[in-house]
Amino acid sequence: MKVVDIINKSEKTVFSFELLPPLKGTTGDKLYNTIEQLLEFDPKYINITTHRDEFDFHQREDGLIEKRIVRKRPGTVAIAASIQHKYGIPVVPHILCGGFTRSETEHVLIDLFFLGIENVLALRGDGLKSEPVFTPEPNGNRYASELVEQISNLKKGKYLDPDLKNNTPLDFCIGVAGYPEKHFEAPNLDTDMEYLRKKVDAGAEYIVTQMFFDNSKYYRFVEKCRAAGITVPIIPGLKPIAVLSQLTVLPKIFSIDLPQDLAKALKKCKNNSDAKKVGTEWAILQAKDLVKHGAPSLHVYTYGITDNVKEIMKAVL
Ligand code: FAD
Repeated sequence: MKVVDIINKSEKTVFSFELLPPLKGTTGDKLYNTIEQLLEFDPKYINITTHRDEFDFHQREDGLIEKRIVRKRPGTVAIAASIQHKYGIPVVPHILCGGFTRSETEHVLIDLFFLGIENVLALRGDGLKSEPVFTPEPNGNRYASELVEQISNLKKGKYLDPDLKNNTPLDFCIGVAGYPEKHFEAPNLDTDMEYLRKKVDAGAEYIVTQMFFDNSKYYRFVEKCRAAGITVPIIPGLKPIAVLSQLTVLPKIFSIDLPQDLAKALKKCKNNSDAKKVGTEWAILQAKDLVKHGAPSLHVYTYGITDNVKEIMKAVL
């Protein structure tokens, strides 16, 4: 089932969550265990992230330093299909511009279609750590809006090869990312909003937001989107803080603010277990308020940690 149909048909806020594919060299057991812990809350769909190739430096036996290409978490397509077939829950794999040519993207989408996946989240991805700015592959998509356009073309049966005949349309429901506190590269929220609108005009059917810790930022973002003519569902992304270091790491990585009350409470914590308690209580307050305001779905960034997510879901659903 398509995410947009799930949301439109549901009279109340649904629950969805996001997981990372297993690290290379490990099995899917931990991931399946995470899912099984959360099944009692009736997740309506599950997102699986995608991780592009990165470069790292490795010291060889002869002492020379070798630059290597590594992908730490391969397997998004296979694990997405495996989860969907094992649990009968729709899975939303993330599709990136970064690191992929348009042709490779088309092949991934063909594979997903054959595997019965109907949903994708279309993203640009971040630049490589070694790059000052995001650089697409030659013949790759530069912005998520271009990727959405490519997927929308496939929905109409328009493949990259203009000579292909009798093409099967690949009917995906397309989601995209939105940033209540603006994307870190955007000069301001208005410019970011114009590009978000471009993604929707290109065919995105819903938006999932970056994590935020102050709900008023999400409500203002939704209002701003509506004023800009963006009418698609806007799903709030909820991240329960689980370790103390996230007090400084999350603002740095995701370019978001932590409200003063939350920051103060975290600063008083002596260890990760205290921080997890504070983070869970904060997330419960956020989630209850989002449900009260009729959010279409609570999209929880779980990253494999379940006890706090269970506590939050028990408190709100
Ligand atoms: P875009 O929408 O392309 O925007 C990127 C920047 O370019 C913005 O500043 C925007 O304002 C600007 N821009 C957009 N279009 C134009 C244009 N036409 N001209 C000029 N400027 C433009 N990353 C991963 O690597 N893997 C994942 O699985 C993953 N999952 C995510 C899930 C969610 C819900 C979210 C919110 C983010 C996720 N990310 C993931 C991170 C995401 O890839 C980064 O935030 C990335 O930097 C931007 O992606 P985007 O799709 O929002 O890009």
